[in-house]
Amino acid sequence: MELSPFYDKKVECLCCSKAFPTTKIRSKLVKVESTDTDFCPTYSESSVPALYYNVFVCEHCGFSFTEDFSRYFAPGTKEQILEQISAKWVKRSYHHERSLSQALDTYKLALVCGTIKKEKFVTLAGIALRIAWIYRKLQNESQEQRFLKMARDQYIESYSTEDYASTQMSDTRVIYMIAELSRRIGDLDMATRYYSKIIESQRIGGEAKLVEMAKEQWQLVREEREKARASAEAV
Ligand SMILES: [Zn+2]
Repeated sequence: MELSPFYDKKVECLCCSKAFPTTKIRSKLVKVESTDTDFCPTYSESSVPALYYNVFVCEHCGFSFTEDFSRYFAPGTKEQILEQISAKWVKRSYHHERSLSQALDTYKLALVCGTIKKEKFVTLAGIALRIAWIYRKLQNESQEQRFLKMARDQYIESYSTEDYASTQMSDTRVIYMIAELSRRIGDLDMATRYYSKIIESQRIGGEAKLVEMAKEQWQLVREEREKARASAEAV
């Protein structure tokens, strides 16, 4: 019998403390064919899209979260979630195979809940980025741009408050994301400024792979600037 890529896991809701089942993916059966320069994965046809299963949606109260959420609720935030999420929650479960649009729903719920809960900027940035990726797959460019900008702004907040310090994100990676997302939303000044920070960090032993990527993307920004200049002159 073939091993199913899915398995069930019981999760305890961070908000109402009730248990609910969620669908998880066997990571060794996930095959990424390629990744974009902002790390958006494209899965091989036979692979389960692991990206769709990062958000836990509590079927009881609607609170939606990822593994990056902290257990701590700042004073008043739980009441706000009860009022704005749970009171309006129509009981439903995302405990099954998810379509792209269901995955999008779960990330949007997590973004709303994380924002009310005042989660770390780096966590909110990661959620907004994944919403942008889903819109990229749906070829909805205006929504993709909107969420890329939201993610970029949250990474800037994260960088200035260093709230990524206890996470898996390194400072080089946060800087890279600010640069790359700025490039993608056409903020070439900001992109240039942050790419050069990474390239400078090479001297103090920055992460080699990211430094290489930053150099390539910086070159792209230069070309985009030249293009913009040439078309401005042609007018
Ligand atoms: Zn709950």
